[in-house]
Amino acid sequence: MSESIEEVIIVGTGCAGLTAAIYTARANLRPLVLEGNLPGGQLTTTSEVENFPGFPEGIDGFTLMDQLRKQAARFGTRFEQASIKTAELSASPFTLSAGEKTYSCKALIIATGASPRLLGVPGEKELYGGKGVTTCATCDGAFYRDMDVVVVGGGDSACEEALFLTRFCSSVSLIHRRDELRASKIMADRALAHPKIKPVWNAVVTEIKGVEEGGVSAVVVRDTQSGESRSLPCKGVFIAIGHIPNTAPFQPALEVDENGYFVPEGRSQVGTRIPGVYVAGDCADHVYRQAITAAGMGCQAAMQAERWLAEH
Ligand code: NAP
Repeated sequence: MSESIEEVIIVGTGCAGLTAAIYTARANLRPLVLEGNLPGGQLTTTSEVENFPGFPEGIDGFTLMDQLRKQAARFGTRFEQASIKTAELSASPFTLSAGEKTYSCKALIIATGASPRLLGVPGEKELYGGKGVTTCATCDGAFYRDMDVVVVGGGDSACEEALFLTRFCSSVSLIHRRDELRASKIMADRALAHPKIKPVWNAVVTEIKGVEEGGVSAVVVRDTQSGESRSLPCKGVFIAIGHIPNTAPFQPALEVDENGYFVPEGRSQVGTRIPGVYVAGDCADHVYRQAITAAGMGCQAAMQAERWLAEH
């Protein structure tokens, strides 16, 4: 059972959650931050962050998140590990349930981010994790030294993953379902100019093949123009095809769009249809999805929560 009613609970420890924590902590609200399975959020699985203002030389994602966390803790933020499964949001105080333990709070900031999307093809589930299929080059790239790997996707993440993998791998095939990358020009140019990166255009992965002793041996790719399939030998498959927002525990109380993103209500970007409940970061933003915009939303959510608590 919950022991007391918190002033404000923040769910999530990515850029949005930790910025909300810094602001609410500095407002003397002693926020409780609940962190899920990936403390620090998506940035901890990124290599270099070059576009967060204030770091002219870039900063690695893990260090940035570690600094944000220390900054939040310095002003009195408390952290607890808890994966929220369900939420009772009909009126404040709100109740969150993480299995056996429940939490209550007067104001709630949801900053649960998004999780990597998977392909859903045969072989993927069986070989996911340490067996050859992954969504994190920063975490797993070094295991594929001097090997041929593939990256699936055409966005900034796919280019970033592919470029990172060139440090270790013999070759990186970048498999994209169209003939033009979605990535920003600077990332796309950088990836396509790299001698180790070979684009495979108009191609979709239909199967990931493994070997009996464990590990990946090849991906089967279908050419979307000719319809022909071929096997592309590789030892690692890095999937970078976007993300799915982590909003399920808060549905149907909060409105989501057709892709599962929270739909903000009211005049602020971070309000919801329930007074006292705010959303911030990638769980509520399918347009910008940047570290700095998530941090900005975290700040807005914190200020809204602070005002709402003062008024009630
Ligand atoms: P994204 O921009 O949504 O790109 C996803 C890519 O995966 C697209 O190329 C898409 O193809 C492809 N895709 C989606 N579903 C697929 C499927 N089922 N099978 C095959 N391909 C599929 O996602 P992201 O690259 O993760 O980037 C997310 C956000 O973070 C973006 O705003 C990006 O700018 C930002 N970001 C920035 C940086 C940076 O600035 N350094 C780094 C990483 C991410 P289509 O193109 O055909 O739709």
